[in-house]
Amino acid sequence: MTTTTEDAGDVAASAEAGPSPSAPSTNALVRQGNLSAVLTMLHHDGPHSRAELVRRTGLTRSTMTVLTAELIELGLAREGQSRSGVGRVGRPAVKLEANPEVAAIAVHPEVDAITVGVVGLGGEVLRRVRYDTLAPASARDTVRIVRSIVEGMRPDLERDHRIVGAGVAVPGLVRSRTGKVLMAPHLGWRNEGIAEALGRALGDEVVAANDASIGAKAEAVFGAGRGVRNMVFANGTAKGIGGGVIINGEVLNGTEGFAGEIGHTLVDSQGSRCYCGRRGCLETEVNPRHLLPFLGRHHIDEDELDIALGLSRDPALLREVARQAELLSEALTNFVNLFSPDLVVLSGYLGNLLSVSRERLTEAVRLRPLGGEARSVRLERASLRSSLMLVGAAELVFERRVLPVSGS
Ligand SMILES: [Zn+2]
Repeated sequence: MTTTTEDAGDVAASAEAGPSPSAPSTNALVRQGNLSAVLTMLHHDGPHSRAELVRRTGLTRSTMTVLTAELIELGLAREGQSRSGVGRVGRPAVKLEANPEVAAIAVHPEVDAITVGVVGLGGEVLRRVRYDTLAPASARDTVRIVRSIVEGMRPDLERDHRIVGAGVAVPGLVRSRTGKVLMAPHLGWRNEGIAEALGRALGDEVVAANDASIGAKAEAVFGAGRGVRNMVFANGTAKGIGGGVIINGEVLNGTEGFAGEIGHTLVDSQGSRCYCGRRGCLETEVNPRHLLPFLGRHHIDEDELDIALGLSRDPALLREVARQAELLSEALTNFVNLFSPDLVVLSGYLGNLLSVSRERLTEAVRLRPLGGEARSVRLERASLRSSLMLVGAAELVFERRVLPVSGS
């Protein structure tokens, strides 16, 4: 790697990049800030020509030439050719893209499987291995299984990628600073230092966080919430409902990283008993398990349920769907009143409910605001679907280890 100190004086501060250059240390900081800003645009928003980067950053052409050359030199960006340019008269515009050879390992332990993925810079899932388990794997077994899957990939990874770390999406309470799992009830984990243990096993830095916060981040960056500053995300499965809140573009963590646990919001004081000890929690009442008897199934995935709900004319099933949609709308109205988001993104089973009850849910959320005036909040279904957790877990790693470009 080379050091390009001579360009520091040429680097102009963009409008958002803070103070103008006056001392070498400030120049270096401005240069780092600019490198990070350009790389983040390529990573989050896809390929750009240099002219597009100049327009978006407000930096000069010559500065952009230096910055992009450095990102290429560092192996973080590469030149591709614009598809839109193909077939036009003249030379197609050369576009820069985030280099997907720079990649993170993403791990998602669930009650019946452990999924390990490789996600490239740019947010694409490049590889995915699902390891089915008969019962939830212990933290110790999870580390062993992930290590063996990664060892199996190792020759390919070393040939094709530069791995920058691993991220774990845990269905439970995770201390954001240490990556320690305080409790993951459905996995049966308690006080597990998963990030540390996996870090030792893989010989790399590992970051762990709550799966719903990770899902929120992924949807905000690459999915339905792209470009939205304030967003509430809620993901539903038969195992429960997790949530994540994005305020001013940042995941709301709370003191220890537990903010956004919306599944245990009370929606029906006469409702059924929740495993948390109370009655009528959102995740106990709004749950696909209550639909299974009507469908004659023991298990149903999100795509199958879309079809089943679209086809069914069973009045008992439709009544149960309507009951759950009503309770969900109560909870969503509370979240909208609390956080005042531009957008609510519903994922998993809650996405199924949105598709069949869109009008009812949207109306409820918009028409019962605190102030009386109708709100403009939008409801959208999550768009990343099966890649949500892998993309989000990898993003934790990119955010810490790649996007704050330290330069050469
Ligand atoms: Zn509960």
